[in-house]
Amino acid sequence: MNKFEVLNNIFGFTSFKNGQEEIIDAVLDQSDVLAMLPTGTGKSLCYQLPGYILKGTVLIVSPLISLMQDQVDQLRMIGEKNAVALNSFLNFTEKNRILHDLSRYRFIYISPEMLSSEYIIKKLQQINISLFVIDEAHCISQWGHDFRPDYLNLGTVRAKLGNAPVLALTATATKEVREDIKQYLHFINFKEYIFSVDRPNISFVVEKLANQLEKKEKLIELIAYLKKPGVVYFSSKRLAEETAETLRQNGFQDAAVYHGGMDQEQRILIQQQFLYGQINIICATSAFGMGINKHNIRFIIHYHVPGQIESYLQEIGRAGRDNERSIAIMLYCRGDEELQKQLIENELPTDSQIEAFFTSTSESNEHLMENLKLTETQLRFLQYYHSSNFDASRVKSIKQDRYSIKLKKLQQMLAWVHSRGCRRNNAMHYFNEKLLQPPVDCCDICKINLNDFQETTKINEKTTLHPSWENRLQQLLLLESGLR
Ligand code: ADP
Ligand code: MG
Repeated sequence: MNKFEVLNNIFGFTSFKNGQEEIIDAVLDQSDVLAMLPTGTGKSLCYQLPGYILKGTVLIVSPLISLMQDQVDQLRMIGEKNAVALNSFLNFTEKNRILHDLSRYRFIYISPEMLSSEYIIKKLQQINISLFVIDEAHCISQWGHDFRPDYLNLGTVRAKLGNAPVLALTATATKEVREDIKQYLHFINFKEYIFSVDRPNISFVVEKLANQLEKKEKLIELIAYLKKPGVVYFSSKRLAEETAETLRQNGFQDAAVYHGGMDQEQRILIQQQFLYGQINIICATSAFGMGINKHNIRFIIHYHVPGQIESYLQEIGRAGRDNERSIAIMLYCRGDEELQKQLIENELPTDSQIEAFFTSTSESNEHLMENLKLTETQLRFLQYYHSSNFDASRVKSIKQDRYSIKLKKLQQMLAWVHSRGCRRNNAMHYFNEKLLQPPVDCCDICKINLNDFQETTKINEKTTLHPSWENRLQQLLLLESGLR
């Protein structure tokens, strides 16, 4: 089959979306490719379609288990039986069954952590990998340097697995992040396809409030006014919980909370109820969203300012996948950045923790975490640099650099909030782009008609649950990771 036949016969699409065809051509041409396409515009097809033309298996590195499972489910829906997600939450028997017969798979999804296992590498060396895909490739730079260091080793993994061509996909990568991606994946001759980060159907609003009480009141007012479903992002789990409760007390029975501290069963339940329209307002932390393929999210409100513009665009990019008008509202109060600063500090170990780690003789992770009061993230950071033979003083300076970079990104986010220029243009400028023509309802600085976002139909007309939902819940329970 040629690419058009695969597009029609297997995926049931009549034409390519913007950017897909040229990326697919480059992949079929065996080039290394870095592709940046906005959120929700069809990046998966760029490796899934070649999977039916190239000989061998497409290996896809994906950051979240829910995301992998979602993709596998979607492939099953188009009749693809040979797709699998290899992750640490499979039980022993399942994992062995899959590993025993790896060559039958057309698509294997895997986490970067799983690829650090020599055993898995040996198994993968026995099959023919035709394409090595890194989905959400900005994670290499955004997460690789601290709490998911296995992202930094993907270039070595690639070489061990026979140096198949690489396709790195992302929606939000600045120039520096793109350089990081190419460096860590060992790109030499490559093609780069960079499309605008802009999503013209998402409007921007920043609301500045005098104090936290006003902010809370504004939120309730907005929730009552806006077309749903929607998501409210918080940097604090506790505040997300409290707000969901407040919303329910104010008559929004279809509001719920979602964060990484909840147990898996609850999280999956909420996610499913949101997908099927039983819940219409989610109060969430950044743990929510990456795997969610819900097309009709109408608003994203940020109750706290995120740590960087990349994360902000990722989070608001979950709105309006159906191309209908949607709105992103940032609620800002002076001093809100203190919470972010705190979070940044907590992500990295302190100098005295670094020293204590390097002089400690303890082997067990539990002991180390308890004795040195380390979080899992901090421990991973230390272990990665320790195993790379770095000494304490070098790790301290790396930590200081990471801290400065994060602080600078936060400052850029704040500059965006405080700027008096067009919000869309400012966000694009961060990615070295320029807005040519502002869309309708561009932003609060340009011009916006809030009536366009007003709820007109009566809410609380609940849709019924999907019939196979019970099974799906069971299945997801087995697979969902503990990642935040
Ligand atoms: P991304 O990874 O860029 O966020 P996805 O790959 O998940 O986006 O695709 C988003 C949606 O677009 C999916 O529902 C997918 O089925 C749909 N889609 C992808 N390619 C096409 C196409 N050529 N024609 C129509 N719909 C498409
Ligand atoms: Mg995607």
